[in-house]
Amino acid sequence: MSTLLEPATLPHNIWAAIRRGIRLKCPRCGQEKLFRSYLKPVSTCPNCQKDWENVRADLAPAWAAMTFSAHFIIPLYHFFIFDGPLPNWAATLLMIIIATSICLVTLPSFKGLFMTIVWWHKMEKEQQS
Ligand SMILES: [Zn+2]
Repeated sequence: MSTLLEPATLPHNIWAAIRRGIRLKCPRCGQEKLFRSYLKPVSTCPNCQKDWENVRADLAPAWAAMTFSAHFIIPLYHFFIFDGPLPNWAATLLMIIIATSICLVTLPSFKGLFMTIVWWHKMEKEQQS
């Protein structure tokens, strides 16, 4: 079994790699899953043998997911507080539920995005011995 990828499977630019990462696929080959559970990356891609253990996105995905959800929540919250039919406590509770849901749904894609950027720019952590 060869561990070398054919040139056609490697992404031709960072945007192609990012599209793979956002879709939760291995950014290098695009064939296999990037995560083995919700946010836990696979240790090695079964198709291209890329080691994903040392590619860390750290807190960037959480920051991006919260910023993304804020773009929906702030206008909604403004509407519910000033013009909405709900009391403030109910509007606040509704916004917390919506914001948390948006963050939980988008977090894996943002992690795939930032892992792709880290891999593409060769910013992987050194392997500890
Ligand atoms: Zn792969």
